[in-house]
Amino acid sequence: MDWAGTAIDYGCFAPLNVFLRIFEEKGVPVTYAQVREPMGLPKIDHIRAMLNMPEVRSTFRTVHGRDWNPDDLSAMYQRFEEYLFSSLSDFTDPIPGVLETMEILRRRGIKIGSTTGYTQKMMDVVRPAAMAKGYAVDSLVTPDGLPAGRPAPYMIYRNMIELAVPSVDQVVKVGDTVADIKEGVNAKVHTVGVIVGSNEMGLSESGFNALSADRKEYLMKEVRDRMLRAGAHGVIDTIAELPDYLERSLTPARGEASNYLLLTPGPLSTAQTVREAMLQDWCTWDKDYNEGVVTPIRRKLLELAGVDAGEYTTVLLQGSGTYCVEAAIGSAVRPAGKLLIISNGAYGCRMGAIAACYKLNCEMIQLRETELITGEVVEKALDAHKDVTHVAMVHCETTTGILNRLEEVGEVVKKYPVTFIVDAMSSFGGIPIDMKACGIDFLVSSANKCIQGVPGFGFVLVSKDKMPACKGNARSLSLDLYDQWETMEKGNGKWRFTSPTHVVRAFYQALADLEREGGVEARYRRYQQNNAILYEGMQALGFTPLLPREMQSPVITSFLYPSADFDFQAFYDRLKRKGFVIYPGKISDADTFRIGNIGDVKPGDMERLLYAIHETWNL
Ligand SMILES: *Cc1c(COP(=O)(O)O)cnc(C)c1O
Repeated sequence: MDWAGTAIDYGCFAPLNVFLRIFEEKGVPVTYAQVREPMGLPKIDHIRAMLNMPEVRSTFRTVHGRDWNPDDLSAMYQRFEEYLFSSLSDFTDPIPGVLETMEILRRRGIKIGSTTGYTQKMMDVVRPAAMAKGYAVDSLVTPDGLPAGRPAPYMIYRNMIELAVPSVDQVVKVGDTVADIKEGVNAKVHTVGVIVGSNEMGLSESGFNALSADRKEYLMKEVRDRMLRAGAHGVIDTIAELPDYLERSLTPARGEASNYLLLTPGPLSTAQTVREAMLQDWCTWDKDYNEGVVTPIRRKLLELAGVDAGEYTTVLLQGSGTYCVEAAIGSAVRPAGKLLIISNGAYGCRMGAIAACYKLNCEMIQLRETELITGEVVEKALDAHKDVTHVAMVHCETTTGILNRLEEVGEVVKKYPVTFIVDAMSSFGGIPIDMKACGIDFLVSSANKCIQGVPGFGFVLVSKDKMPACKGNARSLSLDLYDQWETMEKGNGKWRFTSPTHVVRAFYQALADLEREGGVEARYRRYQQNNAILYEGMQALGFTPLLPREMQSPVITSFLYPSADFDFQAFYDRLKRKGFVIYPGKISDADTFRIGNIGDVKPGDMERLLYAIHETWNL
């Protein structure tokens, strides 16, 4: 962060009149525009740059009968300091939006370094005065003692040393002058200019606010162009835009391998960290892998579900999510049992198909796809079918994006002597679930949904007291949950049969990334933000969501075809060319398409998508 004109002193006025005054005293009057041009340089360099301006130089010669010399420069600088110090502390008000923005950045773990054209002595006045008004930085570097001030990069590098930042790739420079931009460019850091309050705009707050909208727009464009010409990577209107700008522009590089952003229900766009974790081979029975990778994963999954390893356990199983649903149902429901499935979509139906394959005694309650599974619905079903031993449902029915009332159903199910199986495939890790509070005995999910791993295995979290009943029950060798569990327990994380080692290692990384993001709560908030932008933005573009807001999950959203002749394939192809892959609809009685917002997808991506849809849609 630069100081005057960027963080404090709206319009960068403190030094302005002082420059005017010293040149006037010298008999060489200058204009505001001339004063503003070299702003941001160390002040002595600033005076030198002005003396070297052709008009100033020639006026000087006319007035004094000679060229300016170093003695003039140092005398003028002395006067400059004198005048500046007498007024400096009056120009330390934070620019509107700065305090809030720094707060947001700090919460994201970003450190605030700073550089300036002021000397250390000047900053000894400015820093405490700004601090008293709430503005503080983690590191302050002045040009004193460095080989040069701006536009040289040294102050940025000194900040990096003081804040222990190991790479220029992790630094963003923010400033309001051309000298700031050049400093950032020379340091090879991402450089952002801020227009409002800047020296380049050169207006006071009231002066700027009094402008007509047209005039504002015109001047802002001019400043923007000037900053871009100086090499800025980006220019924002106000400092308040900085957090979103960073989010949008500094998404870690997806690398060459990334062809498009997946806005689908899985597999999802994954982080580079996750993909890179696969660049190593592992031995499937070695203990570095089983004890170092698999066991911590099993432990971490229980933590995410908020349950205790004394009461609950985890089974990881090769295959996609459906394999795990099948293993759970096929292992848990005994031939003498009866399974009640409450379904409001394709994944609920798929459970029914599994039950049919295993020739289970099964009662299927089929709701409409836009009807919620509530406590009331399940209570009625359980009262009507007293012989039910197992209840199964989908939490987030990815068919439509509807979020069923899991807690409510859990409260009901707990009152009955039944085992509760939940397909939480597209919600676990992205929506907080308290497994015990919801009375869930079997919770099924997979690697490539909200935990943001790559596809290749799934997992089942199980209440330990339900495990014995699974023994010897599976009518499948590969999908025997009990056998898989027993091998993992006895072998300290050993898989039966070949383990998808690379995928498991990537999943381990995805769990670490999830923790770094702030856990399930933080991810949930991001998904909610993504979804809100999508849901509202699509409506603004004229699309109608299938579900009302209160039924909608923050995972995936269905939209109705905007017209009977809507060509989904053409729409899809055009968006794909713009770098976004969306999903066809899956429901039976309306034409819909779906857009997911889970995975390594950020609010800025959703904004870009909306823009792409806006462009596509207007064709
Ligand atoms: C993704 C998903 C599944 C599993 O699908 P697979 O293709 O087998 O991975 C199951 N249920 C729901 C709700 C899902 O979203």
